[in-house]
Amino acid sequence: MKDITCIVCGNQQKIRHKLKFYVYKCPTCHLQTSDASFDLSFKSSLREDNREAGLKKLRFANFELIQKKLIQILNNRKKQIVGLEIGSGNGWWLKVCQENQIDCIGIEPEDSFRKYYQENNLNVVAGFYPNEATKSLDGYDFIIFNDVFEHISDLDSLILNLKKDIKPNGILIINLPISTGFFYKIAEFLGIFGIKSFLNRLWQFDFHSPHINYFNDDNLTNLLKKYNFKLLDSMRLESLDFSSIKERIMADKKNSRLKASIFSLGIQLLKPFILNSKPDIKVFYFCQNP
Ligand SMILES: [Zn+2]
Repeated sequence: MKDITCIVCGNQQKIRHKLKFYVYKCPTCHLQTSDASFDLSFKSSLREDNREAGLKKLRFANFELIQKKLIQILNNRKKQIVGLEIGSGNGWWLKVCQENQIDCIGIEPEDSFRKYYQENNLNVVAGFYPNEATKSLDGYDFIIFNDVFEHISDLDSLILNLKKDIKPNGILIINLPISTGFFYKIAEFLGIFGIKSFLNRLWQFDFHSPHINYFNDDNLTNLLKKYNFKLLDSMRLESLDFSSIKERIMADKKNSRLKASIFSLGIQLLKPFILNSKPDIKVFYFCQNP
């Protein structure tokens, strides 16, 4: 057990879940924070081939939506936009940018995706942000985090660096899972009865890069507000592609084919309900106040 101070409102967070790591929750803004840390060995228990099949279609569709709204916000000036993606992972965001003629570079410390970057001619700097190689004299029109922001522990220094690297009227885009979502609430409910595997999975505690924070709309907005970023817009993203649920569950090496089949059937039955439930993933667009 640790003393964890809420990065949004400065209150002492209280223990919420005792999982593989402890999860704490702020009594005021409900930010949830874990005491997990980043494993720099990058050894993961994910099966990459299954992960790819299960996620690709869904992610590409979500990235199309994010880019469409970004272009709207930037008044359709697609050609002149220069962006940076922090934590490019498999490179899919950059690939969709390329398909839509949006100029965006990436930065990524893990080297297992290099081949995809090279084959697809994607410009990705190897290393951690901030980095000399991603410094831009004029600043970026947008900086985006796709499933990355929730993994970062020193958000204070990160956001101060972002302020320097984003143009005064530029956009900060954060795409992340949120704690008010349907699956997170179900996982918390099961956690009460001692079933912790879902929470451990959502926090990614078995992976080399676990989540540090689970935000909701309000505490994320209030965190950015402290640094003079104003929320412009936000929207729901789908977290499940119903046609590939089994592959997605199989991506975790610990799950058998039988277990994946049973869960996938259960989720199919709940489909109409899930599509109308609270979103598990959202994307937020912030702008620096002049
Ligand atoms: Zn708080």
